[in-house]
Amino acid sequence: MLNDFISLFFPNNCSCCNQVLKKGENYVCVICQTELPRTNYINQKDNPVSKLFWGRVELIYGFSTFHFGKHGRLQDLIHDLKYKNATGIGLFLGQQVGQEIKDSLPPNTFSYVIPVPLHPKKKLQRGYNQSTFLAEGISEVCGVPMNEKIIIRQVETTSQTRKSKFERWENVEDIFKIIDARHENKHFLLVDDVVTTGSTLESCALELLKIPGSKVSIAVAASGL
Ligand SMILES: [Zn+2]
Repeated sequence: MLNDFISLFFPNNCSCCNQVLKKGENYVCVICQTELPRTNYINQKDNPVSKLFWGRVELIYGFSTFHFGKHGRLQDLIHDLKYKNATGIGLFLGQQVGQEIKDSLPPNTFSYVIPVPLHPKKKLQRGYNQSTFLAEGISEVCGVPMNEKIIIRQVETTSQTRKSKFERWENVEDIFKIIDARHENKHFLLVDDVVTTGSTLESCALELLKIPGSKVSIAVAASGL
């Protein structure tokens, strides 16, 4: 009974296939881990994610670690992370992104890992910022500190999908605000769960680039690009 009680809070079934996890496995079983569709975009300078931002914001690196494949595993994981309190999935995905960074980029490439901030009202509704857990996972693997005190979200954007592209463009101005500009000459790794139009990430990156000498890269867990 105690075990049942514990597993309520620490579910030990795979988040993808629901099989019971073996010792040493966390959140996703080893089989599902190997089947998650990786993009390897991190090793391609002109990959579709970095291209999405061409002419919009200058990035050093832009990549997603996973691709939304045909079987919907990643959609399920991201959905659970966002709407079902499955913050451990955020940590897991962040660790995967972090491992890819560790394997592919020189050590100490980044100064800070920055999760895309949620508006305080939205954070209150959801109870957490899903990107914080991704950033934590990356930070843990790469040893790069996470910082949530440099930039905030001051405007809550609503139903972006219903708006035209032009309106979306106007909507992204001044969504974010630097609240601590002391961190000059740093390379920020901006982190989000997914990228679609890229307008939110673009807006956030442009704001970070207002800090003198700053460089920005973008990492997302998954994309359909
Ligand atoms: Zn599994």
